[in-house]
Amino acid sequence: MSVLTELFDEHTGWLASVLSEHPAESRRVQLADGTRVTLPATGLVELRPSGQREDSCREAMILSAGIHGNETAPIEILDRLLTEMLEGQWSLACFALLILGNPPAMRAGSRFVDTNLNRLFNGAHQRSEYSGLPEAKRAALLESQCRKFTGQKAIRETGLPVSHYDLHTAIRPSKREKFALYPYQPQRQIRQAQLAFLQEADIGTLLLQHSHATTFSAFTTNLGAESFTLELGRVKPFGENDHSHFRGITNALRRRLSGGDPPSDNKKPVEIFRVVHEIINTGEDFILRVPDDAANFTRYQPGTVIWEDKRTCYRVGNQPEYIVFPNRNVPAGQRAGLMLIPERQS
Ligand SMILES: [Zn+2]
Repeated sequence: MSVLTELFDEHTGWLASVLSEHPAESRRVQLADGTRVTLPATGLVELRPSGQREDSCREAMILSAGIHGNETAPIEILDRLLTEMLEGQWSLACFALLILGNPPAMRAGSRFVDTNLNRLFNGAHQRSEYSGLPEAKRAALLESQCRKFTGQKAIRETGLPVSHYDLHTAIRPSKREKFALYPYQPQRQIRQAQLAFLQEADIGTLLLQHSHATTFSAFTTNLGAESFTLELGRVKPFGENDHSHFRGITNALRRRLSGGDPPSDNKKPVEIFRVVHEIINTGEDFILRVPDDAANFTRYQPGTVIWEDKRTCYRVGNQPEYIVFPNRNVPAGQRAGLMLIPERQS
């Protein structure tokens, strides 16, 4: 019996199994090279190198996709990397936890079933308004599985660095097709190796977040991981993605999983942006002066009015500012967008 059949029965692979009515779970196999593969729950695969290679592991990685169920390209990337490894095309060289975030939403081809899963982490799933929702249960499960993964003896006691990359695609167009978000932490410092990895993955822009959040990557940051949300391009249905747009991230992740040395060629340095202003719907005749379809990272000149209400208005300061995630249709008190400036021009 092939390893794929042992793990996923009649399905062609992990993704096909997760999309089916009866996804495989609670399975365990050992590959010819000694790698141990476990399916602890639907949509989760834990990988551990053989004993010998375990000692030479340099890192542990959590890779997630499908936290929004219709963001199919990243889901297909993780599925492909796993299949390659299971077929013996390369050997695993680090501890890894692969996650397909929201299987019911993936099956429905929708962003979520009841509520946005990527707002429910850091315990937000316990709030009464989410009680009983499938996404709240899923957030609790993902939190406990990540805690277990990062807390295991072989990682904790050796102080192995843990990285988490949460892969997304977007509905909104962006002036910068690929960008990373780095969760807020007091006194954070981004290692040069992480910036080099973003470059390697063709991600030329990094946005430093300015406050605590309830996203998946903000949660794993609190577990001690170096975590990034990666926005990789546009949303398309399963099977319709042009994977040449995702070659950079796919190759970079394969290189990390198989323990290859980082490339030495110098791509363009990553441009870093930070938040200068959080646009909040004040509820008092609030008007967002940015069009609904404004692309992320649209640039506005000094003095441009971005929003106003009956008391006040916000204008771009002395240098141009860039908008991300504009959304006028949020309830009063919630975020309607972020204004950015470059942190370090290169
Ligand atoms: Zn997303």
